[in-house]
Amino acid sequence: MDPLYVKVHARDNVAIIANPGGLPAGARFADGLMLQEDTPQAHKVTLQDLTEGEPILRYGQVIGNALRSLAAGSWVREDLVAMPSAPNLDELALATEVPAAQPPLEGYRFDGFLNPDGSAGTKNILGITTTVQCVAPTVDYAVRRIKAELLPRFANVDDAVAITHTYGCGVAIDAPGAAVPIATLGHISRHANIANSPLVVSLGCEKMQPGRLLPSDPAFPVFDYAPDLIRLQDERGFAETIAAIMRAAERRLEVLNRRQRQSLPASQLIVGLQCGGSDAFSGVTCNPAVGYAADLLVRAGATVMFSEVTEVRDAIHLLTPRCATPDVARDLIREMRWYDEYLARGYADRSANTTPGNKRGGLVNIVEKSLGSIAKSGTGAIHSVAAQGQKVTAKGLVFAATPASDFICGTQQLASMNMHIFTTGEGTPYGLALAPVIKVSSRTTLAERWPDLIDLDAGRIATGEATIESVGWDLFHLILEIASGRKKTWADHWGLHNALAPFNPGPVT
Ligand code: CA
Repeated sequence: MDPLYVKVHARDNVAIIANPGGLPAGARFADGLMLQEDTPQAHKVTLQDLTEGEPILRYGQVIGNALRSLAAGSWVREDLVAMPSAPNLDELALATEVPAAQPPLEGYRFDGFLNPDGSAGTKNILGITTTVQCVAPTVDYAVRRIKAELLPRFANVDDAVAITHTYGCGVAIDAPGAAVPIATLGHISRHANIANSPLVVSLGCEKMQPGRLLPSDPAFPVFDYAPDLIRLQDERGFAETIAAIMRAAERRLEVLNRRQRQSLPASQLIVGLQCGGSDAFSGVTCNPAVGYAADLLVRAGATVMFSEVTEVRDAIHLLTPRCATPDVARDLIREMRWYDEYLARGYADRSANTTPGNKRGGLVNIVEKSLGSIAKSGTGAIHSVAAQGQKVTAKGLVFAATPASDFICGTQQLASMNMHIFTTGEGTPYGLALAPVIKVSSRTTLAERWPDLIDLDAGRIATGEATIESVGWDLFHLILEIASGRKKTWADHWGLHNALAPFNPGPVT
């Protein structure tokens, strides 16, 4: 392939190398630009001479300032870029450029499981939740037996899942920060894909008692966990405990097995968006394609969540104008401020986000990473903001505040979502047991290296073989197929399911 660079915005004075394997010094692009030095794929090259201190523009935004003068065709390495400070939260425009609603998309449906609370399941799973880490190996043991001895008799049930985690005791359970993991685990324990109703296994003496994990909710009359609560300290030994869990599981499987998929509108989808192992292509291929699919989902009436506070913080000035009302914009700023203060308590800031893999993938700093990350949110108005640990109930595009760590963000989004889209540049085999995770690659080289892990290749956008629109539509259709159980993600095919990792900003005792 001829030397090719990808420039995102007309104002940009840098572009990224598209050629797999990178390009050598002396390579000449179609417009006559010549590379000054060997430059890896996805890394940036200057399109014109830059003087010391001059702003470096990508996505039409300043990603930093040149630390020395750079001739046209130079490799823009991390050590040549001074990072700008984050946008001031007190000087942001609130709901000043609210995008007009796009025309509704009618007629798109999927086959899902309708739940007692009105939510839709994309899977039909027996969920066994836990109040504390102490019981996790016992529940894992029981689930292995359930899968081997019971599940084969219940053809309509997809899986049995132990909802285990590291929380539950040895924590300041009444501290304000504790509300985040407790709420997250409570919502996951009533997930749409377990028909809102888990078996509950408790130890007995733990801080997070069953009533705290699952407070009785008058708006939730179907849930009555008392008959399906097993307390290990009330049982007579291990074998009796396992037998009790198996008996409760069998009763529950009989109920779940009677459930049938039915045609439901696409508006019943709650789709969580995330990126992990991002590279400089993420912001021009997979993330905009996901953004296009996000716009389609919103037009179809669905809920689309984007998250990862430290990956939107440096692009916040582009998001507050898009909020539907000044109040929504203020909610968004509240979540940014909360996280700034959380990081400051640990003597860190948002620049702690970028990884060695991000940098290898051509991202020089968190500003550049954020500008690419927010492309996942598409182009529509931001309708609502959910605080850390809060369940998303609104329709349309929602910002749900979470950390950016893949497995922590995924756990927190799982509290609300029945479908997960995950974009990746460097690659990760990440998956979740309770909701399907569709993985979209930023580069074709990754999709070719991992043909049995990546579900959709967006890298073809960089070479012009596909468009943002075409990959966006492909993803939209793939979401409906997987939500209907007609297709499986690679993560589900192999059973790659990451452990839950609830975010605990509160103290441990
Ligand atoms: Ca992430």
